[in-house]
Amino acid sequence: MRIVRLALPGEPYGRVQDDTVHLLSGPPWLGGGPTGQLVPLDSGQLLAPVVPSKIVAIGRNYAAHAKELGHDVPSEPLLFLKAPSAIVGPGAPIRVPSVSARVEHEAELALVIGKRCKRVAEAQALEHVFGWTVLNDVTARDLQKKDVQFTRSKSFDTFCPVGPWIETSLDVADVEVSARVDGVVRQRGRTRNMIFPVPMLISYVSCMMTLEPGDVITTGTPEGVGPLVPGNVLETAVEGIGVLRNPIVADDES
Ligand code: ZN
Repeated sequence: MRIVRLALPGEPYGRVQDDTVHLLSGPPWLGGGPTGQLVPLDSGQLLAPVVPSKIVAIGRNYAAHAKELGHDVPSEPLLFLKAPSAIVGPGAPIRVPSVSARVEHEAELALVIGKRCKRVAEAQALEHVFGWTVLNDVTARDLQKKDVQFTRSKSFDTFCPVGPWIETSLDVADVEVSARVDGVVRQRGRTRNMIFPVPMLISYVSCMMTLEPGDVITTGTPEGVGPLVPGNVLETAVEGIGVLRNPIVADDES
């Protein structure tokens, strides 16, 4: 099942079937069901398919990426939060802030929580996932290196493109995660190379904070991160989900 959110009045969620969207009465992870209303898939621009209460991100979850940034492989997951206000949907511009001289892409597989969970065991973790989407953990690398905290470098407005949709049935044990800039492949990794696999991450995060339906965990980026400059077009993809396309603009461009 493929879930989208459309830029129509009320910004409705919908379930995609061929070229038609079956509108839902609310987010499906909160019990939204079919309203009976059908619209063509191209009747409204796609919005980010989820509006989470929090985005929990995992740093350095691929050994080759930890190495390219000059870090050792962590002994337990490195967590940080991205502000939900940073989210933008497919097609929306990513704005390069004038205070950063180095904004980089981080292609990632992200998951959307379907059922509230607290201290969930690894064996039950995937039962709490609603579905899977593509996320780019855009980062002001110079500010990340300068600041002790990741907050500023990870949470500028537009630094969290998500989409184009949520795919509910996907085996994520070994799928390709990639980024292209202007058609040139920059990142191409596989989820089987994660240091901490997805069920462990959900269990680990849920031991600290309650995960609410609609919350997002983004699972880390493979190697190959690199700069984004105004004029670029970024394509982030996860095999089995789709391609998330976003143009890069300067912060003062409309
Ligand atoms: Zn990341």
